[in-house]
Amino acid sequence: MATKITEECINCGACEPECPNTAIYSSGTAYELNGKTSDALSNDFYYIVPEKCTECVGSFDQEQCAAVCPVDCCVPDPDRTETEDQLIAKAKKLHADKTFADLSSANSHFRK
Ligand code: SF4
Ligand code: SF4
Repeated sequence: MATKITEECINCGACEPECPNTAIYSSGTAYELNGKTSDALSNDFYYIVPEKCTECVGSFDQEQCAAVCPVDCCVPDPDRTETEDQLIAKAKKLHADKTFADLSSANSHFRK
């Protein structure tokens, strides 16, 4: 399931550069997906574009935004449940030019 940022966010910005998919944007900033620019999903705090969030599967062993967030407000979104297969497929689609290593405990929180 995609990660979401809750209203507890203090707008520190620590998460944004950590995302392997550029899925995190500051409040009020338009986001890009498949070459299309869309309005911000939040005007109050940082937000995650669900279509770009892979729970870091394929890149890291845990959600990098959650790992650095000082107030633990990057949490799984229960309304957007996704399997590991769906998430790695999403990662490969987002990064068509990249070769991903086989999934293991080093690059998928599902394997830990
Ligand atoms: S879980 Fe990973 S892919 Fe999703 S927004 Fe956080 S850092 Fe980005
Ligand atoms: S690290 Fe946490 S508090 Fe800081 S901007 Fe990201 S979600 Fe908000």
